[in-house]
Formats: sequence, C-alpha cells, structure tokens
Amino acid sequence: MKDQIFIDGAYCASASGEFFDVVDPADRKVFHHVPRGIAADIDRAVVAARRAFEEGPWPRMSGAERAGVLRRMGDEIAARTDELARLEVRDNGKPLPEAVWDIEDTAGVFHFYADLAEGLDGAEQAITLGMDGFTSKAVKEPIGVAGAIIPWNFPMLMASWKVAPALAAGCTIVLKPSELTPCTALELGEIANKAGLPYGVLNIVTGYGDEAGQPLTEHPGVDKLAFTGSIPTGSRIMATAARDIKAVSLELGGKSPMVIFADTPLDEAVEWIMFGIFWNQGEVCSATSRVLVEAPIYDALIARLAEEARKIKIGHGLEEGVLLGPLVSQGQLEKVLAWIETGKAEARLVCGGGVPKGLEGGCYIEPTIFADMGKDARIWTEEIFGPVVCVKPFDTEAEAIRMANNSRFGLGAAVMSADLDRAERVARAFRAGIVWINCSQPTFTEAPWGGYKQSGIGRELGEWGLNNYLETKQITSFDRSRPW
Ligand code: NAD
Repeated sequence: MKDQIFIDGAYCASASGEFFDVVDPADRKVFHHVPRGIAADIDRAVVAARRAFEEGPWPRMSGAERAGVLRRMGDEIAARTDELARLEVRDNGKPLPEAVWDIEDTAGVFHFYADLAEGLDGAEQAITLGMDGFTSKAVKEPIGVAGAIIPWNFPMLMASWKVAPALAAGCTIVLKPSELTPCTALELGEIANKAGLPYGVLNIVTGYGDEAGQPLTEHPGVDKLAFTGSIPTGSRIMATAARDIKAVSLELGGKSPMVIFADTPLDEAVEWIMFGIFWNQGEVCSATSRVLVEAPIYDALIARLAEEARKIKIGHGLEEGVLLGPLVSQGQLEKVLAWIETGKAEARLVCGGGVPKGLEGGCYIEPTIFADMGKDARIWTEEIFGPVVCVKPFDTEAEAIRMANNSRFGLGAAVMSADLDRAERVARAFRAGIVWINCSQPTFTEAPWGGYKQSGIGRELGEWGLNNYLETKQITSFDRSRPW
C-alpha cells in the first residue's frame, strides 16, 4: 500500500506533512494512512502535468505508441487483480466478487482506450466547403491538462473512466481520489511507471475535497475538469470552472426508475430489481431506487421481492457467499439510517430498515424495501445512495412514463415487458441518459454513460469518453491558383 502522493513519476510526501486515516468499514478500524494533500501539492502536480504536456513526448507520440503504454497498464492491472480487489474490499467494503469484477473492468477500460488511441492516428475529416479555392479539414488534438475528481463507490474503476481516455487522447492528468477510498488509485502511479508512461503525464494527489479538490478546480494550469460525485459538489466545480472557462464534464447523482409491466415474469423482475438496488450496497449512481409496478402484480411482486431480500447474506466482503457488504463509512451509514427514519414516516416499511444483528461492529445495513408512499415522499424523490428501494403501483403506460420522468435526475431508467414494442416506446419516452430494456445496470465500456437534467453534463465511456479529452481544430487552406 502506498502512503505517498505521486507527482512527476515519483512517490513523494505532501507539503502538509500530515496524513489522514483510511478506515475499513467492515470493522471501523484504521488500516492505513495517506497524505493530506493541499494546494501546494496540487500546484506541483499541475506544473508537472503542464510541463509533460508542453514539452514532453506524450502528446506528440502517435496513437499507436500511446496505445502500447495503455495496454501495458491494462495488463499490469489485470495481473494484479486479486491484490487490488482485496484492497478495494478493505477500502470500500464491497464483496470480493464485485471488487474482482471492478478491477477486471478497469483493465478492460485501459485496453479499450488503447484501441481508440490507435484509431486517432491519421483521423482527420475532410470538409466540403461551399466556395471554390478553399479546402478544409477537421483534426483532433488533446485538450491539455485534465483534472479528475472521483467518488468512493467504484474507486479504481472511476479512476480508469477518466485516466484511460485522457491518456489515449494525449492529455496529461492530475487525479484526486475520494478521501474515503484513496488506496487503489495510488497504485496507478507504480502501474504507470512500469508500463513506461513518461513522468508527469499522470499525477495523483490524495486529500479532502476542500483542501485538494477545490485547488485543482481553481488551478489556472488545468484545461479540463472531469468530475463524478454529488450534485452540490458538481455545481460548485462548474461555478469555479466558469471563472476561466474550463471545459467540464459532470457525472452526478440519480434516482433511477424501473417500470415493470404485468406481463413480465415475476422471477425476472425480482432478479433485476435485486441486482439494481442491492449490488454494491446500493451505492451506485444509477441504482434502481424507484420501482413502478403495474397494479395487477404490485402486491405479488412486493411479497416476492421481500422474500428474496431477506435471504441476502450480509457480511464482510471477504467472506464466502456474502452479497451485501458494509456501506463505505460511518457517515454514509448515518445518512442512510436517517433516510430510513424519514421513510418510516412517509411509507410502509416492507422489510429491512435496521442494522443487522451481530454486525453492529461495522457499517452494515439491511436491504430495505418501502411501499405505498405518496407522490411527494422524499424517499421517492431524493437520492439515498444505499440498499433502499421504493415501490409504487401504476395503472397505465402514460402514467408510468409521467411518474418515471417526474424527477430532477435523469441518469438511468429501465423498463420490463414481454411486449418489446411497448418496451421500446417507453425506453424512448424516458428522459434519461442510460436506458435498459428487460434488465437493469449492466454497464459496457463501449457504450455512452451519463445523465440528462441534473444528473450531469457530457458522456463518459466509448468514443464519447475520448471526445471529452479532445479539441477539434479546423484547418482551411487557400489555393491561390484557383479563383474564388
Ligand atoms: P462528493 O461530491 O461528496 O465527493 C466526490 C469527490 O469530490 C471526492 O473526491 C471529494 O473529495 C471531492 N470534493 C468534495 N468537495 C469538493 C470541492 N469543493 N471541490 C472539489 N472537489 C470536491 O460525492 P461522493 O459522496 O464521493 O459520491 C457520491 C455521489 O456521487 C452520489 O451522489 C452519486 O450519485 C454520485 N456518483 C455518480 C456517478 C455517475 O456516474 N453519474 C458515479 C458514482 C457516483
């Protein structure tokens, strides 16, 4: 485990000389310390990234050459899957199989963007102009120095969603991981050096949001900010970035609906709801947290869902067969418990709602289901970010769409029906950036990810993720031998 920040290719101490605790949410014990990065560290990191961008080889290398480095980073991450996954379990609490999945996915993201980096070589688009004598083309170039700020729910995977496309584009980057889960991101420095990434291209500074994140958003040496986290922080970052017109992409919160029509097999509906809300302890921005069920199957579905939820094995992420680990921190546990108290006053508690017996030593919470809430119930409208699902009935397709879209969020949405025409119609009617038909949550590196409305700006993953880190330049030539 690394206990130094990573700047200009070397692990080094923070200017603060201070550290903060990293706590295992399974037993609330401190298991590590990492540097409490401050503005002076961010400045050093941005200066290194700026120098690497202005003078270093990275932006001037071919896409194929950059692809080689990205591939080696992906290979190294894959080779260290077990070790990194176990570190993720300690840091975040998630069950080991889910952490393994995250790390495998992280390696896949580096491999995917390696391929896209290669595709940048010679990628220029000829433009037909409406006037003789001129020819024009559009070329893609790296945007410059990127600043990336990420949350704690998928620590290494969220780092890869920003670092890999930024590197593929030829940018240099400063990464600020969440103070709750800084361990795996810090390993990326070593992985980068081993893969031959030039010094200064990737820099990693741990620290708190106000002490390290804010200076990164304010730094004039940063050209582009990429943020994943809460709406209030996203809003602040956008306001700060506006001062010197930095490009910004934001991946924010959600309250994603799932509409289930009565022709859906109950087993399948229950399976996808369970995955949608209890996977990763419900600490998923696109979690299936609002379920709309067609009236004829409402009671049966709730009964079945509760039966399955009660069977979920809760426990330490490293224990065999565990499906639900602890929440990430004591603070998050208290927030979710407070939402459950609100829910008890607003709705019918179907199951869960408390700390599981015998697991009081960690930040554990039972899978929780609420039903029969009013349309303005806060547990229906606000993001809880825990294993808490709200279920409501609907009568008509139009009503379901209206209820689903009646939200300030627009990240994910899902529909289940045996009638595929209807499912497609509803999918298109959702005001959300990621829509699933007859499933919920599967996430593919190749496909665009991001939200409508207050769930964010821009898209990550796929070619869209790469475009976040590219500028488009017009080059127009005049041929003096031709009249105009
Ligand atoms: P958060 O906004 O509290 O923190 C996210 C990051 O921002 C952390 O690294 C934090 O240190 C940093 N930060 C905090 N204040 C800052 C400031 N003033 N300036 C700069 N940086 C600052 O969010 P969180 O609690 O870590 O994450 C949970 C939220 O993230 C949820 O709302 C969730 O929906 C969202 N999320 C969204 C996605 C997505 O893809 N849309 C993915 C994961 C999480």
